[in-house]
Amino acid sequence: MANNIQAIRGMHDVLPEQTPLWQYAEQQLRGVLGTYGYSEIRLPIVEKTELFKRSIGEVTDIVEKEMYTFDDRNGDSLTLRPEGTAGCLRACLEHGLLHNQVHRLWYYGPMYRHERPQKGRYRQFIQLGVETYGMEGPDIDAELILIMDRLWKKLGIRNKVRLQLNSLGTIAERLVYRETLVSYFQQNLDKLDDDSLRRLGTNPLRILDTKNPAMQDVVANAPELMAFLGEDSLKHFNTLTATLNDLEISYEVNSRLVRGLDYYSKTVFEWVTDELGSQGTVCAGGRYDSLIEQLGGKPNFAVGFAMGMERLLALLETADNVPVARSVDVYMIRVGEIAEREGLRFAETIRNVAPGLKLQVNCGGGSFKSQFKKADKSGAEYALILGDDEVSRGEVSIKSLRDGQEQQTLSQAQTIKFLQGLA
Ligand code: ATP
Ligand code: MG
Repeated sequence: MANNIQAIRGMHDVLPEQTPLWQYAEQQLRGVLGTYGYSEIRLPIVEKTELFKRSIGEVTDIVEKEMYTFDDRNGDSLTLRPEGTAGCLRACLEHGLLHNQVHRLWYYGPMYRHERPQKGRYRQFIQLGVETYGMEGPDIDAELILIMDRLWKKLGIRNKVRLQLNSLGTIAERLVYRETLVSYFQQNLDKLDDDSLRRLGTNPLRILDTKNPAMQDVVANAPELMAFLGEDSLKHFNTLTATLNDLEISYEVNSRLVRGLDYYSKTVFEWVTDELGSQGTVCAGGRYDSLIEQLGGKPNFAVGFAMGMERLLALLETADNVPVARSVDVYMIRVGEIAEREGLRFAETIRNVAPGLKLQVNCGGGSFKSQFKKADKSGAEYALILGDDEVSRGEVSIKSLRDGQEQQTLSQAQTIKFLQGLA
């Protein structure tokens, strides 16, 4: 017997019973982004490999070992996007959107990374990305934080996340720090694991990000980047924290927050949770002014963040009272030849006058009993029952499926009024 073909490891289906929660979250985040005047941008899922190598950095986890890269039929090296920042900036540069302009953009869609799949870590995952261009001051950094603060509140999970904040300074400031950090780690080589020894020569700041419990001490005693920041970087950071204080948004300064990607400078932040085990970062971002020049643009400003939707959904599943819409409100049962014909017509009339109502008509026949079972299974709140007798009298029976209320028989006009009241 042939084996059934299965999905690729780490790439998941979202089944119909899960989609209402996704749609709820998507609707809320579109709403929140709308209230801040952000516009959606839609971008290709595949880009030239060079784009990611040049923007994300050669010695990052993503470029070193996580990209889905392949040669297409022309022999060009292409990559399934591992993140959206590079593609979004590529598009804006290509279409001249960065010249003397300010932009506030968002995108939503799948990203691909060849990681070891585990809870909260997949090979295809969905991100909401938000990117802004052309704004230098920390007020836009604060705005991005406000957006997420509002979204957490809307979703009823504000108490489940904490904001962590750091400044990475400028590239020049980071270079000086890097030397100090490397010499500190060289004095503590015996305390480093293999991964960190490898990073010491390539991306030593990432060592600070280690999850290895045995290394927490050596990392905690490392010199702090904050002490190496110049006046301008410090002012940016202090203005941001003062703004957050003003707005009563609490944060923790985490001097070991370095982010995985090379392109950040000044502000970096993460929204973390304790509810999801080791995959606790739900949303992460920061300022990446220098990436614009790195990709061939004129000096400019950029700040953004990305949120992992699977982690957000996992967090929502731990919350109480998440209002999730039913996919069917009303289920129509038709028994008899006349009822079958008249039912379809009547259902269209209902949809015309109660467009908010989710009305499912039983198709494929069946006895009253079997249709009634399907009505119950659909999750609908009411069943509409049409038999030939009812139809000949111009009537409809309505039965509540969720409480013990008596079945009632109404005229078609009364039925429509009743259903309009539900929608
Ligand atoms: P991590 O440290 O967890 O690997 P990261 O720094 O690689 O995260 P980013 O590139 O900043 O993650 O992506 C932003 C967000 O996207 C993360 O905070 C997370 O919520 C989500 N994310 C990243 N990689 C994955 C993945 N493989 N599966 C699911 N979500 C992911
Ligand atoms: Mg990662």
